[in-house]
Amino acid sequence: PIYLDYAATTPVDHRVVKKMLNFLTNEGKFGNAASRSHKFGWVAEEAVDIARCQVAELIHADSREIIFTSGATESNNLAIKGSAILYQSKGNHIITSQTEHKSVLDSCRYLESIGFLITYLKPKPDGLISLNKLMSNITKKTILISIMHVNNETGTIQNINAISKICKTHNILCHIDATQSVGKIEINLKKLKIDLMSCSAHKLYGPKGIGCLYVRRKPKVRLMAQIHGGGHERGMRSGTLPVHQIVGMGEAFHIAKENMNLEYRKLNKLRNYFWNKINKIEEVYLNSILKNTASHILNISFNYIEGESLMMALKDLAISSGSACTSASLEPSYVLKALNIKDELAHSSIRFSIGRFTTIKELDYAIMLIYKSVEKLRKLSPLWEM
Ligand code: PMP
Repeated sequence: PIYLDYAATTPVDHRVVKKMLNFLTNEGKFGNAASRSHKFGWVAEEAVDIARCQVAELIHADSREIIFTSGATESNNLAIKGSAILYQSKGNHIITSQTEHKSVLDSCRYLESIGFLITYLKPKPDGLISLNKLMSNITKKTILISIMHVNNETGTIQNINAISKICKTHNILCHIDATQSVGKIEINLKKLKIDLMSCSAHKLYGPKGIGCLYVRRKPKVRLMAQIHGGGHERGMRSGTLPVHQIVGMGEAFHIAKENMNLEYRKLNKLRNYFWNKINKIEEVYLNSILKNTASHILNISFNYIEGESLMMALKDLAISSGSACTSASLEPSYVLKALNIKDELAHSSIRFSIGRFTTIKELDYAIMLIYKSVEKLRKLSPLWEM
């Protein structure tokens, strides 16, 4: 099948694989980065240092502000639970949104169970958080605002600049889940007033199982560790560092920095090409505002078609459906629900996501398949042509 699910994960870039292999197969390079007494340790430590700088450079951070984790799920847990527990003497209120990733929502649910108060903002139908609503929900007890940069289902880009300024003005910690945006949209942490930011390597042509949390140093943000042990990563995340994974993430972020502008233009062109063709089909709806959507994601509803039958018809495409297929009830996605998208439309939604290796030929094939399948399925639909 043709891979159009880059928002779920990306293939590992061959340059990244090469770097990683060096640390898996090379005899002198298997050391523990915490071994201070011999060369094996020093070699590993140096590789980690370089990778930490590469990651920091992409987001204009200081390398000392990068804490390696197992991925964005862990980063979100550490940012939210770690800051809530540490700053609870200042207050117990957190603001987030209904369209966050489960790792944010479930971290918040856990905090609720131990006495924190959480406000889950409902975005406007265009997917954006209302800044006025955000401000009006701030109380004297608010210690943290956690909002994602790019939504993983719809591609909607939040105004993190404005959100982080609001946080700063009210002396509230600002956490951004940048898993879907880092390396795709320029993020400059020297300018943005963000305190904590989550990233993952596998959405950016790096390996799975490695990510990082950016933790601001000036002014210093403190966190309660969620994984205790040998005091690695400035005491915020213990555990022997997976050097090969870290080296892979560093290389992936380095490549992203070099190519970001070029790649953005390419993806934007491909995305517009695809959408302009699909938009010619009757009764299709984009579940975001195009000009405010990341260039790698398109979430489209095909009215009068069952999402499941469309997915079946498009089995030659590796895509994601808007229904939570894991549940037996086939509930439509909570993200689309929060945007007030009707159940029928949410059920007929598909997420297409493109990336570095997507070609126009692949998109042409996908477009052809979609045209054919939509026509066929609508002919069978009792609701169509009424
Ligand atoms: N946040 C967002 C917005 C995501 O898209 C994902 C991955 N689906 C995550 C967090 C979790 O990332 P990871 O797979 O690295 O745990």
